Amino acid sequence: MSVLKLQSIELEIAQLDDADASSPSKLDNSSGDNKDTTTRPTTANITLRHVHVNAIADYYNIPQLKELANTKIQHILGTSWSADGFPNVVKDVFSLTGDLALHNIITLTAAEHIEELVKLEDFVELDVMGDFAIGIVRTAITAFKDIDEKSTQKLQAVQSQLQQTESLLKFVEARCAAAERKSDNIDDCLDSLRKIRTCRNVNCGAEFRGYIELGGHLSDPSYILRCSKCQCKH
Ligand SMILES: [Zn+2]
Repeated sequence: MSVLKLQSIELEIAQLDDADASSPSKLDNSSGDNKDTTTRPTTANITLRHVHVNAIADYYNIPQLKELANTKIQHILGTSWSADGFPNVVKDVFSLTGDLALHNIITLTAAEHIEELVKLEDFVELDVMGDFAIGIVRTAITAFKDIDEKSTQKLQAVQSQLQQTESLLKFVEARCAAAERKSDNIDDCLDSLRKIRTCRNVNCGAEFRGYIELGGHLSDPSYILRCSKCQCKH
């Protein structure tokens, strides 16, 4: 790190207002349509200040200050995420500080928002990215989307099969119930045939001999016991 850069960073630290920096509600990530007379710091600007603090702490080997800066960076990126200016943060983190913990924080944040970031020219053109890395990232995103789409299709196919199976089950249950009714109906007829001695029609008076008549619909038949002589229903 050059002495000039170090001096400019130290100047930034001197101007750093922590109260502003750690308050997400005061951040302004709008693209400039908001015509406020005071220019509020963006997420990237505030993050950069803490990155520079980390760089100084790394240079002078002050672990506690590095950790403090990292905590603030994580908080800002977690609560006030904006891709706007993030490529500059990546650039400074990987060129100004050797703190692997901060490298890791930035890598994880980039991974979390990678679909949004690969659409940004500033991000794609970063030296740390390179054509090879960007190629891998884009291929991985496409592969992930492909797997996601196939999984959705499989899920829909399984749901459709489930619906068909449920319909089939209802049909079979209905057929079983009909078969049970049919069996009970025949049992009743046979039971009556065994018990009845004389026809209930007083004008018939014959010793009862009956037959079973098929009635109802073919899909849901019913059986009626009738007298063989006068055909009256029993
Ligand atoms: Zn009869």
